[in-house]
Amino acid sequence: MTAVSDLIRSDIKALTAYQVADLPEGFIKLDAMESPYHPFADDEALLSEWLCLLKKAPIHLYPNPATSGLQAVLREAFGIPQAAEIALGNGSDELIQLITMLLAKPGAAMLAVEPSFVMYKHNAALFGMDYIGVPLNEDFTLNLPAVLDAVETHNPALVFIAYPNNPTGVGFKREEVEAVIRAAKGLVVVDEAYGAFSGDSFLPQAGSIENLVVMRTISKIGFAGLRVGYACGCAAVMRELAKIVPPYNMNQLCLATAKFALQHADRIVRTTAALKAERERLFQALSAIGRLKAFPSETNFITVRVPDADGAHETLKQNKILVKKLHGSHPLLAQCLRLTVGSPQQNDAVLKVIRSLYA
Ligand SMILES: *Cc1c(COP(=O)(O)O)cnc(C)c1O
Repeated sequence: MTAVSDLIRSDIKALTAYQVADLPEGFIKLDAMESPYHPFADDEALLSEWLCLLKKAPIHLYPNPATSGLQAVLREAFGIPQAAEIALGNGSDELIQLITMLLAKPGAAMLAVEPSFVMYKHNAALFGMDYIGVPLNEDFTLNLPAVLDAVETHNPALVFIAYPNNPTGVGFKREEVEAVIRAAKGLVVVDEAYGAFSGDSFLPQAGSIENLVVMRTISKIGFAGLRVGYACGCAAVMRELAKIVPPYNMNQLCLATAKFALQHADRIVRTTAALKAERERLFQALSAIGRLKAFPSETNFITVRVPDADGAHETLKQNKILVKKLHGSHPLLAQCLRLTVGSPQQNDAVLKVIRSLYA
């Protein structure tokens, strides 16, 4: 008799699972770009209003994202053009998966830069796309000639560009991304997970460039627990994507909460500005330590090269601070850590440990 495990795809058995940290009590969690602030917790009136809304949410009925009004609120809050159609995903992670599925014809290729968001390559493998990874320059800027070369050589059906990029924090030049969109015959997904923390966006172009999809999420601006991502693009692509979105992928509670949150977008703007200011403070403080190399960031994290990433990661852990060790995941990330920007107190705690090691 065959064991069930023998029936499971061997390529999946060979994969390692995406690591979600198991956090012990009392730890400061700065490994996953979560916001340090619960978006409503400091405002009793807002909290009660939110709870009222949740009480009324029709959880006995299947959700209907189309009539939930969330798309309209997203359009309003983020200036999504009327020409663009919007797809909602259970996090943009789900949209990455669905967009990959949409383009994964036999023999089709996906292109991404490296290092970048690990889920691109992961999904290429899951759906049987050939994967082409084009290394960034050593300072994590885009190697445009290499990308354009690879686009011409491999003619990828799908290109993912995180703008700004994770796990490096560095933003690419707008003109360079435009050049990739122009050169590619395939679909280019500009993943703006950190768009709120950068000074630029391709959202205004969504719906008017045929091979462009702009993907965003509310995870990094205070709502990682809700699981709401969205993608904006031309009808010709989005209507096909709609066919493979699971019918009830957004639940009533997240639809109601996301809509409510975006109707109070001023709060999001305020926390985003505070985190950007903290990012600058953290960057200056890290840059002042001669033995460190902090990379300029347009996100809510800072990637920093330290003399000994394993040691620093471990010492931070002993001090109940969890950050992401990038060292070992890509040659360009040698001795690098990724620090999510937290509250001023959390950042002070990180700086205290790092100064004790290296200042
Ligand atoms: C965090 C992140 C995502 C995933 O966001 P969710 O909406 O929480 O699934 C997508 N792309 C990049 C580049 C990210 O860093």
